[in-house]
Amino acid sequence: MKSLITIRRADWYRSVQAIDGRSGATVQLAGREVINFASNDYLGLAGDERLIGAAVAATQEFGTGSTGSRLLSGHRELHRELEQAIAALKQTEDALVFSSGYLANVGAIASLVGKRDLILSDQYNHSSLKNGAILSGATVIEYAHCQVKELQAILLQQRPNYRRCLILTDSVFSMDGDLCPLPALLDLADEFSCMLLVDEAHATGVMGQTGAGCVEHFGCTGRNLIQIGTLSKALGSLGGYVAGSATLIDYLRNRAPSWIYTTALSPADTAAALAAISIVKEEPQRRVQLWKNIDYLKKLLYKLPNLKLLPSESPILCFQLPSAAEALQISQGLQAAGIFAPAIRPPTVPTSRMRISLMATHQAIHIERLVEGMGNG
Ligand SMILES: *Cc1c(COP(=O)(O)O)cnc(C)c1O
Repeated sequence: MKSLITIRRADWYRSVQAIDGRSGATVQLAGREVINFASNDYLGLAGDERLIGAAVAATQEFGTGSTGSRLLSGHRELHRELEQAIAALKQTEDALVFSSGYLANVGAIASLVGKRDLILSDQYNHSSLKNGAILSGATVIEYAHCQVKELQAILLQQRPNYRRCLILTDSVFSMDGDLCPLPALLDLADEFSCMLLVDEAHATGVMGQTGAGCVEHFGCTGRNLIQIGTLSKALGSLGGYVAGSATLIDYLRNRAPSWIYTTALSPADTAAALAAISIVKEEPQRRVQLWKNIDYLKKLLYKLPNLKLLPSESPILCFQLPSAAEALQISQGLQAAGIFAPAIRPPTVPTSRMRISLMATHQAIHIERLVEGMGNG
């Protein structure tokens, strides 16, 4: 394949790395223990005994597979319990669980708009939002990252030409770690009669007083929103969800192909996510510790004057690097020093970077070793 050769030449080539054993603040990588700064398991729940216990118990009771789609033979009471727990966490009327966050985005977007409609999408949005937009058949216009003024100008010019309009945004941007200007986006959506879909994948369990996400962080709870999220990051399981009005959820149950025509979430994943949501509620100290760790790393950055930190208000901290080769070199240097942190390269992002994600279960010494390792890179 010619294009594969081009990918290699540009230092864009990717391959997988196997992790052994249970995932946590440290993991076994290629036979040795490394400190893990590459995980989305922000609260350290993926290896928690209570989640494992819930998954095992659900498997014993219901078996491994859910054996069908939700509308046919796949539905269990456990799914409904999880949906009610998500709606309670997000303070929305209802919620619907999908087999992944990716499928939740694709399904919701493609159901809500079509050919006669307009999608306005932040240029740094996650791949699932972008592909959902393409699949919907709507006209898609990207606006510059977080540029509300530009979005407003597009709305003034284009909104009258379309039936419905849907604005799409990540809440915590997954490859940058900054936040969308949610209150301003909501005001524009109201002013121009648009729907606003916000992807809380990296915010659920992490942002806001109760861990409900950026919507809570910005004081926008209860406003007219379509909220998407995943069960596979801070909630340590697998699956995705849409949370919003009862009408929206009822509509998606009848319309979203990626919910209707796919097998229901497994009993194990469902039960693990349910256990995670009660831990998010009952153990706010995990979130407090995560934010202490973020502050500690930021405090130590004076030791790395040559590294440029991109704007971040989340556990995702990115250091911009001049080239893909340099990003790879630093990542490999860190790995040799016992630190696992990925280089993120085009086409995932426009400019190469080191991407660090912090967990509640990291210890001070882990963070100190990271700073030391990056200083020697
Ligand atoms: C990870 C992620 C998704 C996909 O969620 P999965 O459950 O892993 O499919 C969607 N949106 C954003 C912003 C993400 O970071």
